[in-house]
Amino acid sequence: MRTKKINLANLPTPIEKLNYDYNVYVKRDDMTGVEISGNKVRKLEYLVYDAINKNAEVLITCGGIQSNHARATAVAAVKKGLKSHLFLACDDDVITQGNVLLDEIYGAKITILTHTEFENINDIMEKERIEYEKQGVKAYVIPLGASNGLGNLGYIGAFDEILEYERENGIKFDTIVCTVGSGGTYAGLWLGNHLTNSEKNIVGINVSQSAEYFKEVISDIANDTLKILGEKYSVKKEEINIIDGFVGRGYALSKPDELEFIKKTIIKTGIVFDPVYTGKAFRGMIKTLDSSPDLLIDNKESNVLFVHTGGLFAVFARTEDFK
Ligand SMILES: *Cc1c(COP(=O)(O)O)cnc(C)c1O
Repeated sequence: MRTKKINLANLPTPIEKLNYDYNVYVKRDDMTGVEISGNKVRKLEYLVYDAINKNAEVLITCGGIQSNHARATAVAAVKKGLKSHLFLACDDDVITQGNVLLDEIYGAKITILTHTEFENINDIMEKERIEYEKQGVKAYVIPLGASNGLGNLGYIGAFDEILEYERENGIKFDTIVCTVGSGGTYAGLWLGNHLTNSEKNIVGINVSQSAEYFKEVISDIANDTLKILGEKYSVKKEEINIIDGFVGRGYALSKPDELEFIKKTIIKTGIVFDPVYTGKAFRGMIKTLDSSPDLLIDNKESNVLFVHTGGLFAVFARTEDFK
C-alpha cells in the first residue's frame, strides 16, 4: 500500500557519471525544482498532502537559520495556498540572505529561537499548534527535516526511480550513498532497498550527531513507515549503515580543508556541493573510497551512486567562506 501525495517536484531527477578513479554517479536531487529544490520536497509531497487532507491552513516547521527544509516548506505553502510558520535556530543577529531571504520573500512567519531554546523544539511547535487552534486555525506540524514515517515515503519513491533508471540504462548500482542530517532520506532509501529485495549497500554519512545516534533515530522512523505501509517487518539499528567521522567542527560549521575540497569538487564536477550537507558527505565518500574502499564497495568495478540532496541557497549565505 502506498499513501497519497501531491506533486511538487520535477521527477525523475537525472543521474550522471562523474570523472573519478571509481565508478561514481550522482543522482541530482538538487534538481527536484528551483525554488523548492533539494530532498525535502520529496518528503513534503506526502506531508503537505496529509496537511491539506486534514484541512490545515498553516504549516509549522523548524530548522537552522539557513534551513533548506524550512525554505522548501515556505515555498510549498505558497504553492498550495497555505501559510507557513518557521521556527529557526540562530544565536546571532539574523542576516537576511540565502534561504532565510527566500523564507521572508515567500511570506513565512518566522520565529527565531536560540540553540538552547531549540532543544525543546517539538514541544514549542506543538504549543504553537494549540495556540493556532485556540484562534480557530488548523495548523499542521512538520518535524525537523520532514523526517518521519510519512516523509520517508518520499525516498522510497526515489529508490524506485533508481531501479527504473537501472532497467532503462542497463546498469546496476551496488552502493547508494546519501547525507544524513535528520535521517529521512537514508530511511526511505533503506526501506526502498528492503521492500524490493534489492540487496544494495545503502550507506549514510552523518553531518551532525554520531552514527550511533542516527542508527537509533533512523530505525525508529523507518519502523513508523513500515507501520504506515502495513508491513510486519521491524528494522533493527544494526541494519543501518552509517559512516561517521566527517562531521568536522559540528553541524553547519566548516574547516578550511572541507571548504577547499568543496571548491575543488565544484570545479572538477561542475556541480555545486554545499558546506553543510552534501559537501561533507561527498568528501566523506571520496575519502572513504581512497582510504578504505571495502566499507563502500566490493571492487573497483562497483558502481556507486551519490544522492545529491541540494543545498544551493545555503551557499549564498557563506560568501566569506568561499572567498
Ligand atoms: C536536509 C538536508 C539533508 C539531510 O537529509 P535528511 O533526510 O534530513 O537526513 C541533506 N542535504 C541537504 C542539502 C539538506 O537540506
